[in-house]
Formats: sequence, structure tokens, C-alpha cells
Amino acid sequence: MAEPRCGRSDLYNVRTSDVVPWKNQTITYSVSTNSTLFAHEDLKLTIRRVFDVWSSNIPRKFQEVDNELLADIKVRFGKREHGDGAPFDGPGGILAHAFIKGLLHFDDDEIWKKYSASEQIIDGTKDIFWVALHEAGHVLGLDHTKVFDSVMQPSYVASIDSNGNYIEPSLISTDIEDIQEIYGGKTKPKSKFLQE
Ligand SMILES: [Zn+2]
Ligand SMILES: [Zn+2]
Repeated sequence: MAEPRCGRSDLYNVRTSDVVPWKNQTITYSVSTNSTLFAHEDLKLTIRRVFDVWSSNIPRKFQEVDNELLADIKVRFGKREHGDGAPFDGPGGILAHAFIKGLLHFDDDEIWKKYSASEQIIDGTKDIFWVALHEAGHVLGLDHTKVFDSVMQPSYVASIDSNGNYIEPSLISTDIEDIQEIYGGKTKPKSKFLQE
């Protein structure tokens, strides 16, 4: 059986241009209800958390909109051929993919789960937060990396402690450096002292 991984090919740390993918300060996104198995509300919470993580490191805000046609980033599920010329492969293998033009798709043939901290991992499930954090990195312009522990490595790894309990994945320093290379760092708010 093919190892669970991202559908994007492995071009490591190759940026094809210096263009900033999203120049707008506020990037909109939509979360579709089209999964046959996964709860819409859980997906909305997961995607909100994912964009909060990226947003806390770059000068961009993310805002959810209801109308998919108006959203910069369109989050939805797909099975097999689903209209973008990059068909999914059924259970296992490719879990998700994302394109810089703003499509972020999960394979609806996987068993997805939204985990809470310290929860025991269930065999065969995939942590939707890890995959969403990774795919959002692609939408924002990042490629795959070989850096151990980076959220941008292409193969799925369950994020667990030595007892097999869930730890929420987070960005490591190279992820933050890579994303800030594109968008710059977070502008420091003026301190109260300086405003006086
Ligand atoms: Zn990927
Ligand atoms: Zn797709």
C-alpha cells in the first residue's frame, strides 16, 4: 500500500518566482459542506485554527466567507476525479492537495479525524489538522521540504508523544523562516510607550 502523503510532487524548496502569491492583506476562504463523512463544523474549526497559526507569523489576515465563488481559497473535499484534473486515488496514498491558485482539497475516501490534545490516536484515521496546516502552506506558496519535523514534509506522520497520544502539530523555525521569506514578518505593534 502506498504511504500516505500529499498529492503535490516533491520539488524541494524550489520557488518558481518571486511573486508574492497573495498581495491582499486580508485573504478570504470558504469551507464547503461537501464531505460525505466529515462534519462541516469540525472542518470550519480546523481551518480557522490553521489560518490562525499561519497568520500569527505573517502580515496577513484570513476571513471566512460563505460564497465559494468569492473566496480566494476554496476548501472542500473530493473523490477520485473531482474537476481539477488531479484525481484522488481512493483510500490511502494521496490524502490531499493544494494549488497556489487557492484550491485546497481533501480526499473524501480517507477517514479523517479532528483530534484534541492527549487523545489516543485511532489506527487508520488521518489528523485533518496536520494535513490542513500542510496544504495551507502550499496555498500560501511553500514547497515541500526534507527538514525533519517540518509540517511541509510530504509524507503524513501522526503527531504523537511517546505514549501514542496526540500533540497538536505546530510550525518549526524553518517553516516560519520560509513563510516570512515570502510575506515578511509580522509588523510589531507600536508599544503604548512609543505612542505617548
Ligand atoms: Zn504537500
Ligand atoms: Zn483537487
